[in-house]
Amino acid sequence: MATGSDAGGIPEMFGKSADCGTIYPVQATDDGELRPVGTDGACSPGNDGFVSPAER
Ligand SMILES: [Zn+2]
Repeated sequence: MATGSDAGGIPEMFGKSADCGTIYPVQATDDGELRPVGTDGACSPGNDGFVSPAER
């Protein structure tokens, strides 16, 4: 299996969906955004904005 692709990978931290509040294991992208691991980059409603769970 290829490594370093956009999908999959090892979760580095947790992120909270800014839309629905669901917590996902996420990776930080090179752009500093949080990408949920094991999804296509968004939670189920299509929201792709994730924040640190410590933020609110
Ligand atoms: Zn959400």
